[in-house]
Amino acid sequence: QKYFKRQEADDKTTETNINSTNSYLKFADDPEKAWSVVGSSQVFKEVKVACNEPKQEGHVRVVCISDTHNVPMLGTLENIPQGDILIHAGDFTKRGKIHEVEKFNKFLGSFDHPHKVVIAGNHDIGFHEESAQRLHHLNFVPEAEVKAVLTDCTYLQDSEVEILGLRIYGSPWTPVFYDWAFLKHRGDAINEIWKKIPKDVDILVTHGPPLGRGDVVNFGKTHAGCANLLDIVQNYVKPRYHIFGHIHEGYGCSSDGRTTFINASTCNHLYRPVNQPVVFDIEVNDRT
Ligand code: 5GP
Ligand code: MN
Ligand code: MN
Ligand code: MN
Repeated sequence: QKYFKRQEADDKTTETNINSTNSYLKFADDPEKAWSVVGSSQVFKEVKVACNEPKQEGHVRVVCISDTHNVPMLGTLENIPQGDILIHAGDFTKRGKIHEVEKFNKFLGSFDHPHKVVIAGNHDIGFHEESAQRLHHLNFVPEAEVKAVLTDCTYLQDSEVEILGLRIYGSPWTPVFYDWAFLKHRGDAINEIWKKIPKDVDILVTHGPPLGRGDVVNFGKTHAGCANLLDIVQNYVKPRYHIFGHIHEGYGCSSDGRTTFINASTCNHLYRPVNQPVVFDIEVNDRT
């Protein structure tokens, strides 16, 4: 069994999952087909998008946005609620050009959240030298120069930070879809990326959704999430929260009983910033 070494011997739920895991991962390159195998056995619990009550003691308030694509000052983004940590799950620009990043960094500076965590997405091309060179006709400056502009946050790229007692890990990669940045083929290639995520991070931030959670695209109403990511998240990492964007139409939240999945896409599929930030309170002393 592919991931058996990493399972806890005494974890019975995990052992049941090993079987379902292997059967749907045969179709890792075809999310619609993979979902037809695993979808019916998935638990879905409704989760509220907003948190209007006052914050309780021992909790950290997290405010999530994503896919703002250079339209920060319009619509819903004028009312980003206060919180302890602001998280952006990628696609903060259209191309990741240095002037776009300057604008985004200023936008971040206009908020009072004591901690801000940002990952890149497939649109933030300037953050990925390999793609920037392939798309050289767009005249990118070197990756290091683009990244140096982003001063008003903690930028995560396949890396982790601990904030207020919470372990937060971020990764920009999504399955190949046209020619953008941070793309890997579904199956083994993207799985190599997901295998680097540490077990038991509290909050996982990826640009794209896992299979079946906020991943239905408007065109054709099919699933576009990553089957390998679903497998790693449910069978190994088991974070308390998984935050993403990328499939703008998939905005919303659900829980599988252990992890709360949040598609925080601010823009809709027409790139209009219509969706509210997603806000949740996480207890810091209750590590499960
Ligand atoms: P973005 O270009 O901002 O990364 O994604 C915008 C839109 O492109 C999404 O809301 C979705 O409609 C579509 N899209 C992105 N990735 C995929 C994919 O892997 N498959 C399909 N079918 N559509 C995608
Ligand atoms: Mn845990
Ligand atoms: Mn986007
Ligand atoms: Mn995207």
